[in-house]
Amino acid sequence: IFARMAQLISACETRRPASPAVHSRATRLADALVVGAGFAGSVMAERLASAGQRVYVIDKRPHIAGNAYDEYDSAGLLVHRYGPHIFHTNSDEVLRYLSRFTAWRPYEHRVLSQTEHGLVPMPINRTTLNQMFGQNLADDEATASFLASLAEPRAEISSARDFVVASVGQELYEKLFYGYTVKQWGIDPSELDRSVTARVPTRTSDDDRYFLDRHQCMPYHGYTRMFENMLDHPNITVLTGTDYATMPRHRFGHMVFTGPVDQYFGHRFGELAYRSLVFEHETRAVEYAQPVATVNFPSLTTPYTRCTEFKHMTGQAHPMTSLCYERSSAEGDPYYPVPNPKNHELYKRYEMLADAEPSVTFLGRLGTYRYMNMDQVVGQALATARRLLVDTTERMNA
Ligand code: FAD
Ligand code: UDP
Repeated sequence: IFARMAQLISACETRRPASPAVHSRATRLADALVVGAGFAGSVMAERLASAGQRVYVIDKRPHIAGNAYDEYDSAGLLVHRYGPHIFHTNSDEVLRYLSRFTAWRPYEHRVLSQTEHGLVPMPINRTTLNQMFGQNLADDEATASFLASLAEPRAEISSARDFVVASVGQELYEKLFYGYTVKQWGIDPSELDRSVTARVPTRTSDDDRYFLDRHQCMPYHGYTRMFENMLDHPNITVLTGTDYATMPRHRFGHMVFTGPVDQYFGHRFGELAYRSLVFEHETRAVEYAQPVATVNFPSLTTPYTRCTEFKHMTGQAHPMTSLCYERSSAEGDPYYPVPNPKNHELYKRYEMLADAEPSVTFLGRLGTYRYMNMDQVVGQALATARRLLVDTTERMNA
């Protein structure tokens, strides 16, 4: 229905093009058009709507929630269609804001990596070292000095490879990082920014949680329900299955664009690199298939990077279980910006174009070409909404 409405709207516009003067505020469809119903777009839409603006939110996918979309599969298991999403943050503000739209289930994520020494904790911790090197390290101090004996310090740490080798040495780099990173990104780790592998820093303790943030939890009824609550506002109209290209842009005031920034500008300077993923979902007639939510496969002989069993994360009681294998790909929907100097330079050129477009705000992982977690995107959207609303008030008062 939403897609049809959008088609009708744009068909009317094609037949009866209007001059900007005709579309005064009274004849506008809405004050703001938000492209993308993921975290960036939905938070922005909610903030603008709560400040009294009429907002249209569109998404080319047939659903809201962007990459965080979850749904019940045919066996009745709650799964994340676009791979595992675990909420973690150190921001009280972000947690407080999202808590308006959901209750939470406490959850701490754990990951094991499959190696010739069996399943070992990732990120590398004391247990990982004891298992892989047959050690009996008993405390942080002993672990730190063992790590120092493995580490290969270097003057400059710029790449994803440098970061790992400098902190844990070549052997652990090859066994736990090299293959995973090559599969995930399709390039050698020496061609990626250090920030990529810095996401999984080594520990000297035996803490085996994947994240150390103060707040770690999952939306009690899932992400999609949380987004439904966020977008359930009388000032918000949601159109799914609707591409930006089909919308009558001139019938809206401001626009928030959370799709790929290079696409918005018609790839004027060339295409920014994105990494895509293929998600293979599998339902099994066993209660649990893995000891933890995620098992990583760092070997190049396994095509997948990781496999996630959702029930660990959702806490759902069910006699069956659902798994998701992730395989990386150059083709397909853009999921990850590829952080390296070349892409950064190209993005800077698009950012200059974006900054020169006063009636459009670019936001989110794709709109600002940044490898951000969900909480960072929410934080970015909240801060941007505040700025935008102050600007609007100042314009109206001027
Ligand atoms: P998106 O969720 O991508 O939303 C953008 C939306 O814009 C999309 O729905 C898209 O369809 C729509 N769109 C694009 N172009 C158009 C167009 N032309 N017209 C209409 N609509 C358009 N973060 C965490 O914090 N924890 C995790 O555990 C975690 N796991 C992840 C696992 C995977 C496999 C991936 C890929 C990401 C993960 N993330 C995780 C990151 C998280 O997904 C992002 O931070 C967040 O979803 C970004 O929100 P966004 O709104 O910027 O982008
Ligand atoms: N990584 C790795 N081996 C692992 C886990 C991570 O080499 O077992 C590297 C890999 O390059 C990956 C990056 O660290 O892309 C960041 O990992 P993270 O789990 O944060 O990736 P995401 O969940 O964002 O896909």
